[in-house]
Amino acid sequence: MRPNPTPNPNPNPNPIVGGGNSAFEFAQNIMGNTQYIHMVGRPGRVRLAWETHYPGAVRTIHNTVLETYLLKSMDAMWEESMEHMLFRKKGDLWYLMTHGEGITRVIPPSVQGFHKIIVCLGLTFDRSIFDASAMPDATKHKGYESKFPILNSRFEASNVSHMFFLGSPMHSNDYKHAAGGFIHGFRYTCPPLMAQSTPKRPPLMT
Ligand SMILES: Cc1cc2nc3c(=O)[nH]c(=O)nc-3n(C[C@H](O)[C@H](O)[C@H](O)COP(=O)(O)OP(=O)(O)OC[C@H]3O[C@@H](n4cnc5c(N)ncnc54)[C@H](O)[C@@H]3O)c2cc1C
Repeated sequence: MRPNPTPNPNPNPNPIVGGGNSAFEFAQNIMGNTQYIHMVGRPGRVRLAWETHYPGAVRTIHNTVLETYLLKSMDAMWEESMEHMLFRKKGDLWYLMTHGEGITRVIPPSVQGFHKIIVCLGLTFDRSIFDASAMPDATKHKGYESKFPILNSRFEASNVSHMFFLGSPMHSNDYKHAAGGFIHGFRYTCPPLMAQSTPKRPPLMT
C-alpha cells in the first residue's frame, strides 16, 4: 500500500474502524505520513498473534501503533463497539454519532468532522449467489455472524450435499484455532479435499 502524499487539510485524523490485522496494517503504513492515528475497535485487549499462536490475531510486524498509543500519547485507540454508533454525512464531512433510545449525538472525537473513514471490519460470507434450494447455512460465532458456510469434515456444506468449499471458507472448521483461512494454511486443508475428489487411478503397468 502506498500512502497518499497529499496533506490532509483537516486537522482531525481520519478514523480507522477495526482492531484486526487490516486495521493495524493500514495504521502502520500511514504512520510516517500522518500526525495522529485514531482507531476505533471493540472493547477488550487486542489479541496478539505471538501470544495466541493464531495468524488471524494481530501480527507483531503491524502493531507499532500500540507503542505510539501507549507510550507516546500520540495516537488514540478508542474501545467502542460500532453496534451503538453510526457515521452520518453532512456536507463533505463525516460525523460519528451515538444512537440508542431515540437519542443521537455527535461523539466528541468527531466534532470537527472526518474527510475519510477507513473501514477494516473483516469479511462475511456472501450467500447471494445461492438459490434458496441450495443455500448453505452460515456460521454464528458470537460477534462474527455469517462469516463462513457451515461445513462438515469433508469441507462439504453441512446442509447441501455435493457442495464443496475451497480457500478461505475452509476456515469454517478451524476458525480461531489454526491457519485454514490463510494461504500458508491451504497446504493442510486443500490436499485432503483434492484426495477425496480425485478418482483413484489404476496402478501403473510395469
Ligand atoms: C489484508 C489481508 C492480509 C492478508 N495477509 C495474509 C498473509 O500474510 N499470509 C497469508 O497466508 N494469508 C493472508 N491473507 C489471507 C489470504 O489473502 C486469503 O486467505 C486468500 O487470499 C484467500 O484465497 P481465496 O481463493 O479463498 O479467496 P480470494 O483470494 O478472496 O479469491 C476469491 C475470488 O472469488 C471472486 N469472487 C467473489 N465473489 C464472486 C462472485 N459472486 N462471482 C465471481 N467471482 C467472485 C473474487 O473476485 C476473487 O477473485 C490476508 C488477507 C487480507 C485481507
